[in-house]
Amino acid sequence: MAPQTSTPSPSSAPPAPRAQLIHIEVDRRLGHEWDEWNGQPLPRGGDFSAAPGLFFRFAAVTLAVATAAVALLLYLIGPRLGTLWPLLPRILWTVLALFAVVQWLYLGVVAAAFYSGRNLLPERLLERGPYLQLMNYTSLVARVFGKRDWVEHAAIDVYNTLAGRRGRKVGKGELLVLIPRCLSKQALDGVLEIAGRYEVPVFVATRGQLARRVIRERRPRAVVAVACERDMMTGLRDVAGRLPVLGLTMQLPNGPCRDATIDLGQMERWVQGLVAAAPARGRTKQ
Ligand code: SF4
Repeated sequence: MAPQTSTPSPSSAPPAPRAQLIHIEVDRRLGHEWDEWNGQPLPRGGDFSAAPGLFFRFAAVTLAVATAAVALLLYLIGPRLGTLWPLLPRILWTVLALFAVVQWLYLGVVAAAFYSGRNLLPERLLERGPYLQLMNYTSLVARVFGKRDWVEHAAIDVYNTLAGRRGRKVGKGELLVLIPRCLSKQALDGVLEIAGRYEVPVFVATRGQLARRVIRERRPRAVVAVACERDMMTGLRDVAGRLPVLGLTMQLPNGPCRDATIDLGQMERWVQGLVAAAPARGRTKQ
């Protein structure tokens, strides 16, 4: 006779193991620009102020690196291209040389415009034109040297100086103030006070995508944006070509994405300068 086995009834089974729910308390939500932050305090209390000359030095290195990279490529593939058409390598070398001359001339004009106090070129050829690309490529090179935030700060300062000199005026309802979610309470109160005084709308843009949406929907004629250097570079690259922007960078005394402070005096000067004595809509300078 086969042995009888008894299966335990469900009621007598030991309870199934339950997953433990672990709560992780986060005291900040990092913007993706800061993904690689190691949690250590930022240098100089998160103040990345740097002299504009730093940007010009790194921009010169960027042009040299870019020219050298293309020259190396041409040197390597030139003989092969010569088998297709013997004149081709010579033409490409000439184009590269001309391009390099134009790039260096452009950098010289930007530096002359900045230091001479006269913009020398229309905005489409200066701060709202190729300068935005130059800023971004320079930032890439600065990262290699661990100088990203300082070089970006200097680049944004140069941009603001050139843009501010245009003396643009807009109506109160035509200016938009965009702030990030990471401002300290004191900074936020200060921004709201300034915005209230000059009757300009303020939007908290939690992500660049949202900032672009607000701009699309509100259709401002100028923007004063607040962000850290990293976020500001992306914002300027995406928006400044289409819309006049002044970009106020922040200090990050408690690390990225929390309790940021700003120069409220600078913000007020910009807002006041943009909306003061603004002519009626339709007669404003764009
Ligand atoms: S602007 Fe503020 S929230 Fe956005 S990435 Fe910079 S530090 Fe973080």
